Amino acid sequence: MKKSLQTLTSIVLSALLLASCSKNAEAPVAPEKKDNADKVFTYIQRLGFSQNDIVDNGDAYIVDGDIRFPKDMEVPDGKATTEQQWTGSKLTAANALNVRIKVDPSMTSMMPEINSAVNQWNTIGGAIALHVSIVTGTSYDILIKDTNLGAGICGMGTFPSGGKAGNLIQINKAYIAPNSFAQRQRTITHEIGHNISIMHTNQTGGMQIPGTPITDANSLMNAGQCNSGATVLSNFDKIAAQWLY
Ligand SMILES: [Zn+2]
Repeated sequence: MKKSLQTLTSIVLSALLLASCSKNAEAPVAPEKKDNADKVFTYIQRLGFSQNDIVDNGDAYIVDGDIRFPKDMEVPDGKATTEQQWTGSKLTAANALNVRIKVDPSMTSMMPEINSAVNQWNTIGGAIALHVSIVTGTSYDILIKDTNLGAGICGMGTFPSGGKAGNLIQINKAYIAPNSFAQRQRTITHEIGHNISIMHTNQTGGMQIPGTPITDANSLMNAGQCNSGATVLSNFDKIAAQWLY
């Protein structure tokens, strides 16, 4: 009896070892990365974009000019193309209440604009559980930094992943410097919107948030309006944020 138990134990152990060996052997790094990039590519199409809208930018896909989808992002589960798809890619409730932005030294000269943008998201009012703050420590959710994005692009946000805010906002500082204060802070407000899951209001296709119209000329989240668009969140922008959080 004792011997057979030992034999059984040894068989089970061998099986476990074999299983773990073959598991390791099946997990080379490069194909996993590529698989995830493919998933992200498919996910972006599920959001309503065509393949032609998706630009490969090395470690991320860029959509609609200024929304980054990192190739290593967590793609939310979901099969149907419904509003529910949205809920899979927004911040968790706890994370939405504590969105921490760290300002890279390259952006401190635009602190007043950043503060104005943060204030817009913090003063939506109504039933919303969203709070954005500026932090200086080593723990943060979003890094905002100056990046030369070329002519025509004011800034670039990053879509959320794994229940967390997108981790990077790039601002084309020299390019937006000649703009008015209101327009400079608009760019930052707009990119923060992407990092907390809000897409472009005037995007073709995609998911409409309940209670908002198909077009909203006053939306700060309209695309392609660098230095010309709304400088304060529209009522429907606020309804969109309230619906998400
Ligand atoms: Zn945008």
